[in-house]
Amino acid sequence: MTAAGGALLRQDRAQLWHPYSSMTDPAPTRLVTGAAGSRITLDGIGPVVDGMSSWWSAVHGYRHPVLDEAVRRQVDRMSHVMFGGLTHEPAVELAGRLVELTGLDHVFLADSGSVAVEVAMKMALQHQRGSGRPGRNRFLTVRGGYHGDTFDCMSVCDPVGGMHSMWSGLLPPQVFGDRPPELDADVPAWAQRFRALAAEHADRLAGLVVEPLLQGAGGMRPYSPACLRVFREVADEHGLVLIFDEIATGFGRTGHFFAADAAGVRPDVVCVGKALTGGYLSLAAAVCTTEVARGVSASDSGALMHGPTFMGNPLACAVACASLDLLSTSDWSAQVRRIGAGLQALHRIPAAEVRVLGAVGVVRLDHQVDVARATEAALAHGVWLRPFRDLIYTMPPYVCDDADIAAVCTAIAAAAEAG
Ligand SMILES: *Cc1c(COP(=O)(O)O)cnc(C)c1O
Repeated sequence: MTAAGGALLRQDRAQLWHPYSSMTDPAPTRLVTGAAGSRITLDGIGPVVDGMSSWWSAVHGYRHPVLDEAVRRQVDRMSHVMFGGLTHEPAVELAGRLVELTGLDHVFLADSGSVAVEVAMKMALQHQRGSGRPGRNRFLTVRGGYHGDTFDCMSVCDPVGGMHSMWSGLLPPQVFGDRPPELDADVPAWAQRFRALAAEHADRLAGLVVEPLLQGAGGMRPYSPACLRVFREVADEHGLVLIFDEIATGFGRTGHFFAADAAGVRPDVVCVGKALTGGYLSLAAAVCTTEVARGVSASDSGALMHGPTFMGNPLACAVACASLDLLSTSDWSAQVRRIGAGLQALHRIPAAEVRVLGAVGVVRLDHQVDVARATEAALAHGVWLRPFRDLIYTMPPYVCDDADIAAVCTAIAAAAEAG
């Protein structure tokens, strides 16, 4: 560790919140001095493979020349202008790409994933009001989900593992179905219970919000694609706005461009974020059908009542366009398949459960991970991991080569043993 690095870390510890951290008893943090390709450089350690893609986002790795150039070009034009009453080429270009990719019609650009989910939920509520059903103000979802940290998002996160107990009485009450099953054989029984639950609450429900195919931060659980068709049918039967939160799963991570493609299901609203800019800047979007947009516009306010200051930030839109172009010109599907094949080595690790879906690998232990020890063990093998609860997992950048993926598997094995 350098002296300058030590000083930064002391100041960080004294002044900065980190995600889900304590200010009085902060967990250790490490100093990053740079990043390139699949690696981030830690002060005093050197470059290590980023097994987390900076939380799903850096799919093309770091300092990608095409993405760097897109940001530079846009900086030379303008970095930001307000979106109220103004527009610009990067936003229009991005909307065109998102409409084409999602098969939906209208794009709301938000500044973070949580805000995109808030906006999607607001779309559903306003759509119901505009359709003459103002009493429909609750959401149907499933247990085990994660949709962000703002209050409405928290209300549809897993009621046990999420933050419900801490905020009981403050979160809007929502309707929770059982976790969608992993095995196709278990789908009919689950679907029957889910349909009954929806029918019971239908006249209060505005929408159905779920992460398609893979529940992420709520527990890293893949489930049967057949459940997606059940979601679509239930939404159609009861007039619910079907919202797919693809913030983690979008842009190829599960082996499908969108996770919903696994079942050929089209939602009414899709939320994207995380990898949208290739991990360069914070940007997300809620994309909806014309029908939802009409309902929203027919509601009492006559408009979608949301407008963040940094809505449609040109730098973020420009790099998002470049990242989507990179995906469309690269063979992301082959990259994800290759990484998934490499991650099969995880099955050799003694653990309660191992799950591999697309370029996501998850090892579940039979106890809570000692995060400090597990992280240390992974770093000793040259890999950055960030376990939580009983899970050690990876969603590496698509640019990782086979040696990187082998290192990630070795590091996860070491972390599982140490943690
Ligand atoms: C990360 C995530 C969010 C929240 O996105 P932020 O940009 O962190 O606000 C919402 N939904 C899912 C599925 C996520 O993985």
